[in-house]
Amino acid sequence: MSEIKHKIMVMSGKGGVGKSTVAVNLALTLSMEGYKVGILDADIHGPNIPKMLGIEDKKPDVIDSKIIPVSVLNLKVMSMAFLLPDTDSPVIWRGPLKMKAISQFTNDVAWEDLDYMIIDLPPGTGDEPLSIAQLLKSDGAIIVTTPQDVALLDSRKAVNFAKQLNVPVVGIIENMSGLICPHCGKEIDLFKKGGGEKASKELKVPFLGRIPIEMKIVESSDSGIPFILNNGNSKAKEAFKNIILKVEKFFEKKEEVI
Ligand code: ADP
Repeated sequence: MSEIKHKIMVMSGKGGVGKSTVAVNLALTLSMEGYKVGILDADIHGPNIPKMLGIEDKKPDVIDSKIIPVSVLNLKVMSMAFLLPDTDSPVIWRGPLKMKAISQFTNDVAWEDLDYMIIDLPPGTGDEPLSIAQLLKSDGAIIVTTPQDVALLDSRKAVNFAKQLNVPVVGIIENMSGLICPHCGKEIDLFKKGGGEKASKELKVPFLGRIPIEMKIVESSDSGIPFILNNGNSKAKEAFKNIILKVEKFFEKKEEVI
């Protein structure tokens, strides 16, 4: 892991807000910018990254007792899903075994040199994501939330989680922010709007941007062809690109300080 310049944990106060979707598309956007990028799916109970990248049937090779991450679309990928006998198996390992698997991800995977590693943490701010985040030691946290007012509660927990670990917060992303009607083109604020931005103001952390709800995002997660690789432009695509500009700036500044 020492050959990795920046490790970003993508986290959320709760499940289902689009954390893994955001993690995959951010990783790909960074790789399209020319960076060497890896993605570590540390969401041990719902490891969906291989499905989202269309590599569910792949297994990593082991060479000289090192695990070689699966390469796809210019990304190096490691996931708990690769270690399961089939995609329907739930992970029911007890605590110590789970931690052993995660520390293997840390120590025994030959990531080689990477500019960025995106870590998809398990949802929530409980013991499990905490132990995993402690093991993986990132230098930035991205918090994914939804637009409702209650998002503030979840974001506050997530910001405190990062603070507890001494991990600087890169910023908050408001996902599922508005739906563009495919018929009339008008925007419908299905889950309200602005909760993520409000949270970032109150919690004094940067706001990285809004990603609208787009049908193509759901379709692409299911088909294994990530959204960002779709042809054509869209608001969500723009949003991912603008977010990455802010992420780059955040780490550039950090490098200047060092
Ligand atoms: P989490 O990792 O937080 O549990 P996922 O990334 O698995 O959430 O996303 C949950 C579901 O929501 C998936 O079906 C995904 O395709 C969908 N989804 C996520 N973000 C968006 C979005 N901006 N627009 C439409 N669907 C989305």
